[in-house]
Amino acid sequence: MIVMKFGGSSVANAERIRHVGGIVAERLSQKPAVVLSAMGDTTDYLLEAADRALTAGEVSMEKITVPHLEAAAALRLDAADEREITALLEELESLLRGIALIRELTGRTRDYLVSFGERLSVRIAAAWFRAAGMNARAFDAWETGFVSDSNYTRAELDRESWSRVKKILTPLLEAEILPVITGFIAKDGKGNITTLGRGGSDRSATIIGAAMNAEEVQVWKDVDGILTADPRLVPEARVVEEVTYEEAAELAYYGSQVLHPRAMQPCRKTNTPVLVKNSYNPAAPGTRIVPVLEKPGLPVRALTTRKNVTLIDIVSTHMVGQSGFLESVFSCFARNSISVDMVATSEVSISLTLDSAHDLGTLEEDLGRIANVDIKTGKAIVTIIGDVRRSSKILKEAFGACAAMDVQVEMISQGASKVNISFIVDDTHADGVVRKLHEIYFGQE
Ligand code: ASP
Ligand code: MG
Repeated sequence: MIVMKFGGSSVANAERIRHVGGIVAERLSQKPAVVLSAMGDTTDYLLEAADRALTAGEVSMEKITVPHLEAAAALRLDAADEREITALLEELESLLRGIALIRELTGRTRDYLVSFGERLSVRIAAAWFRAAGMNARAFDAWETGFVSDSNYTRAELDRESWSRVKKILTPLLEAEILPVITGFIAKDGKGNITTLGRGGSDRSATIIGAAMNAEEVQVWKDVDGILTADPRLVPEARVVEEVTYEEAAELAYYGSQVLHPRAMQPCRKTNTPVLVKNSYNPAAPGTRIVPVLEKPGLPVRALTTRKNVTLIDIVSTHMVGQSGFLESVFSCFARNSISVDMVATSEVSISLTLDSAHDLGTLEEDLGRIANVDIKTGKAIVTIIGDVRRSSKILKEAFGACAAMDVQVEMISQGASKVNISFIVDDTHADGVVRKLHEIYFGQE
């Protein structure tokens, strides 16, 4: 079997859903299970509507009702299917009224509220797939075995979910049913709806793929695959043919929005290949995410950059030969609930980076009690994803380029992950450095 996951923009309207139906129909012999996101930006609109209800006591859901009813009408759903859609929209409206009335929105209610996006999209799509002659059936994730903890807005599935999913889906596929399953959502042990975190449908798909030991998980997006760099920054950026799970996970974390950072984990456990495809351009080969590269070519897979980073240098003369200094430094960050990204240490100093969003007032005071602290804002992390075993060559070229451009490198981190080399430069230099490195590693083409 295969898993085919389609993101929001792939199912944004009736036309896109028809198109997706065509893509699925061509692959029926591979026994697909389909996983869908909410249509278009529905999740954002649901959160906006919740916010409006909470803060202004207003119920406004046109941005949600209109596209769904339009799609249902354009796809000429059966009366019964259409009733399911209107029933869900009515339930959503009551919920928003409730929030507007009591002016309270708990994590639990928030998850219940955003779940409508995926519940609507699978019903509309499955109805269309049936109209197009496929034996499709819509499922809410919990009907296919997804049970999670109660960490609302970022729930984690329980261990038994995998075996439940397999037990439920196997006979369905054997009966030649095409399951169309909600991504992103689950239910906890008490029966409350939960979500796996924004962008979580990728993870729903890879969990199903791993649980079913799928031949492949296809993640259908609106881009041709993982790119060597952000094309807004590097127009010559091109699709990467193959990356490892580790590389894909680091890329997701470092700002390539293609995949959810935690989506790789399940398939990595079972060595299930993940293929990133473009639903707008199905003929393009896409990017294959695999345990080991079949065609190890260039040492570098891709480049990313993260701007607006703050660099903190912490220097202590007490550090020499001392135990517990790192702990006291990091406990300052923990106390202030600030999460650290990159770290480099020497015998007497620690450099680390954070997103600039944090308020550093009390942190600086706290740290000041144990060390000398120097905070620099306006920095950027440049990350090279590739084979760190070839780092000498990679670094030689990277630093050669920085030197030639007269760009100062302020901190380096390599080795913690076997696929990530990161360094800090001034924000203003980051784009130029990435463009130059792209030219060096990938040629001009
Ligand atoms: N619809 C959810 C979101 O937008 C989940 C997903 O698309 O993966 O975050
Ligand atoms: Mg989405």
